[in-house]
Amino acid sequence: MSKFLLVVFDGLRPDMVRPDTTPNLVAFAATGTNFLRARSVFPSETRVCSASVTTGCLPRRHGLVANRIAHPRDPRRSVDTGDMNLLKSLEQDAGAPLLDARTLPHILHAAGRDFALLSSGTTGQTYVLNPEADALGQLTLSVHGPQYCSETGRALLARLTPPPAVPADRAVWLADAYRTHILPNPPDVSILWLCEPDTSGHYAGLGSPAQIAALHAADAAFGRLVADWRSGPWADDLTIAVASDHGHATVTALHPIAPHLAGTPAAGATLMAGSSCGLALPDASGEHIAAVAAWLTTQDWVGSVFAADGIDMPEGVLPRSAVLVDHPRAAPVLFTLRASNAPSALGLAGTTLYDGNLPVGGGTHGGLLAAELHTVLMLAGASIRRGAVSESPAGLCDIAPTILGLLGLPGAAAMDGRDLAEARHDGTAPEASPAAESWEAAGGEYRQRLGRTRLGRHLYLDDGRRG
Ligand SMILES: [Zn+2]
Repeated sequence: MSKFLLVVFDGLRPDMVRPDTTPNLVAFAATGTNFLRARSVFPSETRVCSASVTTGCLPRRHGLVANRIAHPRDPRRSVDTGDMNLLKSLEQDAGAPLLDARTLPHILHAAGRDFALLSSGTTGQTYVLNPEADALGQLTLSVHGPQYCSETGRALLARLTPPPAVPADRAVWLADAYRTHILPNPPDVSILWLCEPDTSGHYAGLGSPAQIAALHAADAAFGRLVADWRSGPWADDLTIAVASDHGHATVTALHPIAPHLAGTPAAGATLMAGSSCGLALPDASGEHIAAVAAWLTTQDWVGSVFAADGIDMPEGVLPRSAVLVDHPRAAPVLFTLRASNAPSALGLAGTTLYDGNLPVGGGTHGGLLAAELHTVLMLAGASIRRGAVSESPAGLCDIAPTILGLLGLPGAAAMDGRDLAEARHDGTAPEASPAAESWEAAGGEYRQRLGRTRLGRHLYLDDGRRG
């Protein structure tokens, strides 16, 4: 029976997959199908991406619309979605599940299949991937301790050596835990989510020796896993996918936003900042939303600007629906900080201003640069074409439909993503041809552009930038 493992290297840029840094990923790609046009979602933030992976849906459908979201009952408060306990109280306060769309683990449980999740991401990120783990009797193992694991995850954690303290070591520990304790008898579907090279890229610097070392160590752990898989009993039945959730851009300067808001239409707004930002407004009238969005287009530190659909859209501003995040929970005004495709001091394309606690030279993501939106996606296994590349658009929302397709289970039709069947020996390329879409808006000296690709009913974000 077909089984599936998804390994996520958080924040891995496609241009960091190289023979010198990730020899095992390069070798893996050569034995399978590599998607050269894989894309993240907007905002390109980890919890938003995790929700798209587990639901196969865009943020407009799953509703986890930012790493920091306004509280549903009190827009003056914002909630950090990286904390599992805050997400649980958010669910209680809202009286509704965290995600608006069904998750892959939920669909698998309904079909009588099992699922396991091992993650070294934040406790909130892990919870987003499977908020129902305990109710469904599924395994969730978090490196952050037993209180963040499901009941079966706690039992596994108790049998392992304690997780190390350093994130780069935790990623290696987790991959080895999967290899030694899950791979010998894997569930129908499992997700192994490694927090590297994201964490070291954020704090040690994007492309820094410390980040490359962390990536190299995670790649080596992945290589051990692949070696055991190929020589073990599941070589023919287990398909492995490798993905990243988003890329990274380099922080060139810190730009605190809050001091700029006083005395403007945005005064009194709740700011959710990063390299993509939201403004929740105490007065959510169309006039106020439009005034705030219009003001942002006059600021030289601002990149792309989006506002809630249905208002009298100011010149230069694009609707939230253009960027596929038109959900009631999304802030009525969304924007990115000024960013560029220019290379960093270390030669990596994509630089941006940033408001938060990361250092200059650190990596960040959330915005619409190609450096942030372009991701890694590859599959290998007995049913997957060897040495193949697909240039059809693909993305995070396609992972869950592809898993269901490989397992022969229904559910993909209700998702935003598509089954990447062209990767399979018995699959065919998409019938539709990719069509480039360009959204442009200008007003005064401000102009912006958003590039998307449509493939039938499926939509992919390529890049967005102030121009
Ligand atoms: Zn991430």
